[in-house]
Parts: sequence; structure tokens; C-alpha cells
Amino acid sequence: MDTDVLIVGAGPAGLCLGNALAGSGLRVTLVDPQDEADLGDPPDDGREIALTRRSRAILDHLGMWSRLPDAAAAPLHEARVFEGASTRPLRIAPYPRSSEPLGWMVANHAIRRAAMAALAEHGTVQLRAGRRVVDISIMDHGAAVRLDDGAELNCRLVVLADSRHSAMRRRLGIRSSQRDFGRSMLVARMRIQHPQPGCAWEWFDHGQTLALLPLQGDLASVVLTLPQHVVDQLQSLPDDAFEAQMQARFHDRLGSMKLMSARHAYPLVGVYAHRFSARRLALVGDAAVGMHPVTAHGFNLGLAGVADLATQVAVATREGSDIGAAKTLSLYARAHHLRCLPLYLCTQAIVDLYTAEAGPAHVLRRGILDAAATLPGIRQALGTLLADRRRARITVN
Ligand SMILES: Cc1cc2nc3c(=O)[nH]c(=O)nc-3n(C[C@H](O)[C@H](O)[C@H](O)COP(=O)(O)OP(=O)(O)OC[C@H]3O[C@@H](n4cnc5c(N)ncnc54)[C@H](O)[C@@H]3O)c2cc1C
Repeated sequence: MDTDVLIVGAGPAGLCLGNALAGSGLRVTLVDPQDEADLGDPPDDGREIALTRRSRAILDHLGMWSRLPDAAAAPLHEARVFEGASTRPLRIAPYPRSSEPLGWMVANHAIRRAAMAALAEHGTVQLRAGRRVVDISIMDHGAAVRLDDGAELNCRLVVLADSRHSAMRRRLGIRSSQRDFGRSMLVARMRIQHPQPGCAWEWFDHGQTLALLPLQGDLASVVLTLPQHVVDQLQSLPDDAFEAQMQARFHDRLGSMKLMSARHAYPLVGVYAHRFSARRLALVGDAAVGMHPVTAHGFNLGLAGVADLATQVAVATREGSDIGAAKTLSLYARAHHLRCLPLYLCTQAIVDLYTAEAGPAHVLRRGILDAAATLPGIRQALGTLLADRRRARITVN
């Protein structure tokens, strides 16, 4: 065997798994087409990731949290959900009241940089940067992984972490359910005249969904969900015209808004793989479940899955059993399905309800927001969604 575990893809999920396995005594290899310089110092991709408390604890355990610069993590104390022109939001805050935030906003490229730095410190994971996996053959005793330079690596376990559009998942015949939401997300960092420190907004306005994610000081990440042709128009505007558009789209509630970064767009497609494991194979991160970002759970779920998979592999190693055995991997797969499926379906239902433009949909969602203030069932569901299974207090202003 050339290596014990081969991870396809050094995105956030693959890198975190590399770190989780770094001290296991197993030989681990990561393969990614990006070159090493880009992996070590990834460019800003505009994504600001809302990390739950649980994710922070995992990143701490992986030696990554301490590698984030102080200014990289902006605490999130409250979320407000608006509907249409209403100025009465549904408020979600930690419950019982606590000074500990609901979560933290951290830029995706900062997470990747911290993961690479931790990996370099461990020094036990082999990185094949600048190489793409082009084929995988699964056999009884192991798997053979072919790279685009013709090299073949034999391993005991292959882990796919090669994005929601995973070419290797498809090549291995693993089906997935895909949902094209027919919208794209435009993200940009802006300086806000009336900042909302520690407070995130999710605003289901008529014809558009807006989000405001608080960063350091008066900076915020502005997120717009719109049809692609509108996103194209917004991206082609000069900076000052874009700023004026943003101010108008936020109904002037934030005062003047100044663009502080490039604008990035992401087509919204949800993906759910029909299986997360097979003999000698596991799927993690977006390759297993690619969430709609509205509930901010994609990476959080991926990280929880990575922690589970690493635990199963460590247990098998300790017991001297086969790390690629279907039974070992199915323990991870089952737990991950149970964790992801309810959130995946719930997120789709939220997107459907809050992007419907028919009159009754507006009435229904206003009614749900009002009811959420008084019905514990809805409060708990929303609290679970946003606070990662911790109780959250929800009130209507
Ligand atoms: C706008 C936006 C906002 C988001 N906000 C949040 C949030 O607030 N909270 C949250 O939890 N999540 C959020 N997410 C989701 C989060 O960004 C993703 O879940 C996470 O980045 C997925 O990481 P990944 O490593 O699985 O996949 P990716 O980041 O897609 O990485 C895949 C890697 O695989 C490599 N690769 C591809 N093919 C091959 C191959 N054949 N061989 C080798 N390598 C290959 C690629 O080069 C890449 O490095 C957001 C997403 C978006 C788009």
C-alpha cells in the first residue's frame, strides 16, 4: 500500500479530515488540483461562514481555531428574520441568556489557511498538490487511485471531499438528488453606516432575499439571492452604482453602504448523495451533502461528519480492524444521514416557502414568524437550525 487513507480534495472538509487523522499513526495523502501556494494562502472567495459552537470546539480540537488571527472571528449574538416590508423581526438569541455567542463569522479562506497551517505543523500528511484524481478502482483488499499525471496510488480507504459536483461520486456510480434553486447568491463585503454588531439579518423581501452578516467593526457581508440575470447586472455595475443599489435594496435601513471587496456569485444547487459510504469508500463535506446556504449549515455539517468519520477510523485502527470495512464506514454514514437529512429537507422547505411570490405565501410566512414568537415547537425547530441543537430564545420585536 502507498498510503492508508487517500482524501480526494483539499477544500475545507478534506483539509479538516487530514488534520483529524494526522495524529492517528495512519499514512494519509491529500490530493488537490490547486497548487501548494494557493492552498496555503487561498484567495478571498467572499464566503463568510457562520460557525456554530460545536464547530468551534471541533476546530479547537484540530488545532485550527488558535491559528485564526484575532480579527478573523466575529461573534454572532443574535439573528433577526424579517418578512417583506415589516420592520418587526423574529429575534433568535441564545437561551438561557448567555454571554457566549450563538456562533462566529469566519471567512472561508481564513478557515482554509488555518487548516493548511495546522497540517504543515503536524507534518505527517502527504500533500499531492497540483494533481487531480481521474479514476478510482475499488477492490476487496484496497483501492487504486489514478492521478492526472498517470501515477497510481494504492490505499485502504478513499474519502471523497471533491465538492458538491463531485466527479468521482458520479464516476463510482453513486446517485445523488440535486435541486437547482434557480437562483444565485451574490456576496460582497461592505462598510455600513449603521452597523449591526453581532446581529445577523435574514430578510425574505418580496422578489429578493437579503442577508447581512456582521463582521468586525462597521464591516458586514452582504448576501443577495436573486435570479442569475439580475446578479449579472449587479456584478457589471460600477462600484458607486452598486452601492446605491444595495442601499435601496436594504430600504435605506443601514444608511450608506461602501463596497470593500470584490463581488462573488454562487449558483444555488442543493445536493444529497444517496449513500455516504461503501466498502473502502466514504463521502464527506459537500460531496456528501451540499446545502443551500440560507441556514448556514453546509460546512458545520461537513465538519461534524469529518469528526465522526475520523473517530470511526481511529477506533478501527486501535482495535486492529480494517479501516475500509463496510461495517466501520456505515457507522459514520448512518450517523451523518440522521444529522443531515432533517436539516436538508427543512432548509428546502424554508427556501420554498420564503421564495414563493404568490400573495398567500406572504400571508403564511408572516403568520409563521408571528406564531414562532409563541409556539415552542417552532421556536425549538428554529433554535435547532441556527444554534446547532442548543436552545435559543426567540421573540418578535
Ligand atoms: C455563499 C456561501 C455561503 C456559505 N455560508 C456558509 C455558512 O455560513 N455556514 C456553513 O456551515 N457553510 C456555509 N457554506 C457552505 C460551505 O462553504 C461549504 O459547505 C464548504 O466550503 C464545502 O467544503 P468542501 O471541502 O466539502 O468542498 P469544496 O470547498 O468545494 O472543496 C472541494 C475541493 O475538492 C477539490 N477537487 C475537486 N475535484 C477533484 C479531483 N478530481 N481530485 C482532487 N481534488 C478535487 C477542489 O479543488 C476543492 O479544493 C456557504 C457556501 C456558500 C456558497
